[in-house]
Amino acid sequence: MKIVYNRLLPFRGYAAMAFFGVILARRECRPLSASTVRHEGIHMAQAADCRGWILFYLRYLWYWLRYGYRRNPFEREAYENEQNADYLKNRKLCGWADYL
Ligand SMILES: [Zn+2]
Repeated sequence: MKIVYNRLLPFRGYAAMAFFGVILARRECRPLSASTVRHEGIHMAQAADCRGWILFYLRYLWYWLRYGYRRNPFEREAYENEQNADYLKNRKLCGWADYL
């Protein structure tokens, strides 16, 4: 996964974000931890589940408005599995749906 370090995105308080297939990361967070890279990788898999980034972001926005950031099922799947090095190898299709 390509990581682009910068000082604008994501906003302060967040280390990284998945942005159309690239990880954007705050400069002061270099290098990202393996768990953070894995967390963003899970979002990449979720975007593939949603058949692309636009549909992923629309669905993400809907869940964020409805459940907030940490209870958003996309974030719950990513946070609960970011420590598991094998998660992406064994992840089932639409794994985030288990967190609805
Ligand atoms: Zn996330």
